[in-house]
Amino acid sequence: MATKTNTPQNSDSSKSTAKTSKTRAAKAARPAAAAVLIHGQPAYNETAGEAYMGPAQKAHFRAILEAWKHELMEEVDRTLHYMQDESANLPDPVDRASQEEEFSLELRTRDRERKLIRKIDETLKSIEEDDYGYCMTCGEKIGIRRLEARPTATLCIDCKTLAEIKEKQLQG
Ligand SMILES: [Zn+2]
Repeated sequence: MATKTNTPQNSDSSKSTAKTSKTRAAKAARPAAAAVLIHGQPAYNETAGEAYMGPAQKAHFRAILEAWKHELMEEVDRTLHYMQDESANLPDPVDRASQEEEFSLELRTRDRERKLIRKIDETLKSIEEDDYGYCMTCGEKIGIRRLEARPTATLCIDCKTLAEIKEKQLQG
C-alpha cells in the first residue's frame, strides 16, 4: 500500500479573510447563515474572486428552485388526494358547508402554488439563458443573499423598494 502523505486538506482560511466588507456586513446581519437551509440547500459560500452567476452559483440556484418546485408539486398532490379522501358524504349539512369552505380555501392556495410553480419554471429558464440574478429594471446584480431569500426575484432591492413605493402611491 502507498505510504500516507501529509497532504494538507484544502484550507479555506486564506480565502475567507479576503472577503469584501460588503460581504462581511451581509454575513453579520445573518449570523445563522451557515445553518440555514434554503429548500434543503445550504447557503452559498462564495470564494474570493468568484464570478457572479458562474457555473457553481447557477447550479446552486437551480438546485434551490428545483427542490422548491418539487415541494410545491407534492403539496398540490397531497391536497388533491386529501380532498378526494375527505369528500366522502358527510350527513350533516353544517359539516358539508364547512368542508366546502375548507376546500375552496385549499383550492385558492393550490392556485397560488401553481402560479408559483410557473414562476419557478420561468426562473429556471432564465438561468439557462444566462439572465438570472440581474435586475430587470437597472441590470445590476441582485445578489446571492437576496436571491437565496427570494429565489424568483427579478428586481434588485433598490428597484423593488422603488416599485413598492410607486405601487403604494397609486393605491393611496
Ligand atoms: Zn435594479
